[in-house]
Amino acid sequence: MTCISCAHEHDQKFCPNCGEQAAVGRITFRSIATDFFSTLTNMDKGLLFNLKYLTINPHYLITSYIRGKRKGIFNPFSFLLLSISIFLIADSLVDFSSGLDGPDSPAYSIGYKAGTFLRVYFKYVWIFTIGCLGISTKLFFGQYNLAEHVTISAFFIGQATLAGLIGFFALKAPVLLFNPIVYLAMFWMVYNVFGKGKDQWEALLQTAGVILFFFLQLFLVLILIGLAL
Ligand SMILES: [Zn+2]
Repeated sequence: MTCISCAHEHDQKFCPNCGEQAAVGRITFRSIATDFFSTLTNMDKGLLFNLKYLTINPHYLITSYIRGKRKGIFNPFSFLLLSISIFLIADSLVDFSSGLDGPDSPAYSIGYKAGTFLRVYFKYVWIFTIGCLGISTKLFFGQYNLAEHVTISAFFIGQATLAGLIGFFALKAPVLLFNPIVYLAMFWMVYNVFGKGKDQWEALLQTAGVILFFFLQLFLVLILIGLAL
C-alpha cells in the first residue's frame, strides 16, 4: 500500500520511511472519545505518563526526552498547555484568588496594582515562566543549551501547575506564585534531574539557587508591572 503521509510504498503495519500507521480506521464519535480518554488515562503515554514519571523519576523522563525518545512521552509544550487549561478550568469553578484578597495577603504587600495584576491576570502569563525557569536552571546547572533548558522547564511548570491545584485543595494555599507545593514540586524535579551523580549538598544548594532565582525573576517582573501600571 501507499503511505498516506509520505507516499512510500510498503506492506508493513507502520511506514518504514516515516512511521505513519498503515491502516487507521475512519473517524467516528467512538474513536474521538477513545483517543481523548486514552490521552488522559493511559499510563504508558500521554498526560498520566508524564505525571507519573515527573513524580517518581523525573531524571529518567527528561534525559530520555532530551536524548531523543519521543514515543510515549507527552510533548512538553502540549503537556504545559493541557496542565494550564485544566488549571484555568478549575480556577473558573473555584475562586483560587480568594487567598490573595485582604490587606494581609502577600499580593498587597507588593503594591495594589501589581497585587491586582497578580490576582486577576497572573495565571494567563504563567506559561511564560518557562523562560524564567529555563534561564535559572541554565545558569545554575548549564548542562544543556538554553532551548533544551526551556523545554525541560515546560515539563516542570506543567507538573508544578497541577501540583499547585493539589496544594490549593489540600492546604488552601493560594495558587501559583505563593503556593509552597508549586515550589516543592519544582525543587524535587530540578534536584532529581540535574543533581544526579553530583555531590548531594552541592546539588541541594544549586537547586535552592534555581528556585530562589526563579522566584526573584517573577517578583521583579511583578514589581516592573506594578511600576508601569
Ligand atoms: Zn510514510
